[in-house]
Amino acid sequence: MTAKKIYLTEDEMPRQWYNILADIKMNPPLGPDGNPVGPDALSAIFPMNLIEQEVSSQRWIDIPEEVLGVLKIWRPSPLVRATALEKALGTPAKIYFKNESVSPPGSHKPNTAIPQAYYNKVAGTKRITTETGAGQWGSALSFACNQFGLECLVFMVRVSFDQKPYRKSMMEAWNGKCLASPTSDTQAGRDALAKDPNTPGSLGIAISEAIEAAVSDKSGSTKYSLGSVLNHVMLHQTIIGLEAKKQFEKIGEYPDIVIGCAGGGSNFAGIAFPYVLDKINGKQIEIYPVEPAACPTLTKAPFVYDHGDTSKYTPLLPMHSLGHAFVPPPFHAGGLRYHGMAPTVSQLAVEGLITPKSVTQLQAYKAGVILTRTEGIIPAPETNHALACVIDEANKAKEEGKEKVILFNWSGHGLIDLSAYDRYFAGELKDFELTDAEMEESEKIFASHPKPQMLKSR
Ligand SMILES: *Cc1c(COP(=O)(O)O)cnc(C)c1O
Repeated sequence: MTAKKIYLTEDEMPRQWYNILADIKMNPPLGPDGNPVGPDALSAIFPMNLIEQEVSSQRWIDIPEEVLGVLKIWRPSPLVRATALEKALGTPAKIYFKNESVSPPGSHKPNTAIPQAYYNKVAGTKRITTETGAGQWGSALSFACNQFGLECLVFMVRVSFDQKPYRKSMMEAWNGKCLASPTSDTQAGRDALAKDPNTPGSLGIAISEAIEAAVSDKSGSTKYSLGSVLNHVMLHQTIIGLEAKKQFEKIGEYPDIVIGCAGGGSNFAGIAFPYVLDKINGKQIEIYPVEPAACPTLTKAPFVYDHGDTSKYTPLLPMHSLGHAFVPPPFHAGGLRYHGMAPTVSQLAVEGLITPKSVTQLQAYKAGVILTRTEGIIPAPETNHALACVIDEANKAKEEGKEKVILFNWSGHGLIDLSAYDRYFAGELKDFELTDAEMEESEKIFASHPKPQMLKSR
């Protein structure tokens, strides 16, 4: 009988993260004067131990025992063969996924929330502030802070706060505090409300609020934490792909195609970066980040220097960006509504090491329902974007009569997103697609910024 799930024992869990900065060239982050910023520029918002990881070019970084101890609550996550999906599609492809929905908050996000809370604790932080889109990150960080005895303050994008009231309940269950952003508690929030009192909010605005709340605590014991985009977040997520590699070794398989949905880039990076390393070393493998057509950073926006937040608190980062003032339309995959893309993921796209794809909201939900009715797990709306691409690739394999091995990341479950499914079933969801005119408007935002170099790592 073919195995449905491939497990690792807790002893077989990876003991090190993979740092892609050892293997690619990157443009440096720039300060307001246009010069590269050093680690010190970040010390007001992050503890030094995490900043060291952010800039490290060491290829393998040890995972602390205390972190492994908490990750063990749900890791190693199973590698699952999507046998029922294969059968329904009649494809010769073998389809596997890493099930990251098994964590307590229901997504891949605690893979970085746990180490971030740990390193903050070690550095003497008492309280962590953050933003959250769909609420996944806020609940993951609340869970992590609670494990290490830290306070957690979460600014949640208004549109998601209204659509997903149970996310706030989860954060409170783990002792976190959750506010709808924009709030009137910060200058960034007040500015956003003055501009548009009915704004649905955006991740860019919420990030500004959370950073402001951290730096305005002059005791220095409040720090800020980001759930995606930054190098150290990508690093922590690589445990997903490193586990997958060990699991595939056990059954003597290796993927031809690796797929993950991409918002800020972290769950994609998590499953993909260990395979990018193989690709750099000569392996033949296709790697696809999949984003929403309504917020198409990799597939439509240029590679530029731009700020990570609306109020320009962050340095200029080299990334694919729709512009830091971009407010994406209120489609339901809240976790994919970010204007930029992780600099590491952006650099890989520039170099052609990964091949970005985009799908519309309706294509995504259609695929999600197919997975629900075959594999049984109700996917997060974000995951649905990856699934649409998986089904496409499985159908292509069928047309070509090829027995391809497809690996994708099941980044989270959709049990807190059922109102979005209700709207899909009622035929109320529609497609948004970014127009060329909107993109031209966006380009004005970073027209005056310095331009990143087109670096080649190979
Ligand atoms: C946050 C989230 C995403 C998107 O964020 P990335 O940083 O791109 O990983 C995808 N899936 C789920 C379930 C999420 O919670």
